[in-house]
Amino acid sequence: MGRWSLNRCECGHSYGTMGGSDSRCLRCGSTKSREVRIFDDPQSLSEAVAASNMPKEIADELEKRISSYNLRLQKPHSAESHSSQHVAAMMDATGDDGQLTLSSLSRSLERMDIHGTTAEKLIGQAEFEGRLIREGQDTWSWLQQSS
Ligand SMILES: [Zn+2]
Repeated sequence: MGRWSLNRCECGHSYGTMGGSDSRCLRCGSTKSREVRIFDDPQSLSEAVAASNMPKEIADELEKRISSYNLRLQKPHSAESHSSQHVAAMMDATGDDGQLTLSSLSRSLERMDIHGTTAEKLIGQAEFEGRLIREGQDTWSWLQQSS
């Protein structure tokens, strides 16, 4: 007996009905609706109705957030979005002699208000990637990028 169905009207409005009852659209009054799904309980039905009638912009926004969240999960190293800022800080910390030091980079990070990383980490990463080469105890210089 208890059959709850989600109906989508030709006008785009979704609404729920209980089995057998008159399925007239609550928005336009049309009876030309399509049964989209059947639910066993009114709770699931009302959630489905709410989700179906969610404004498209909100649904899109939600979708975007979920996919960017998934993207973050897939890419643990996505400090990528910050990397240009990091490079800018490293450039900023580089002196006229083409060298940078931990302390000059620390100062640049602080001045540029960049958090979430440290001069040690950035230099270590760049060194690892072959972009910087250690020149001395606390001095690194940029390797020429071959294009
Ligand atoms: Zn309608």
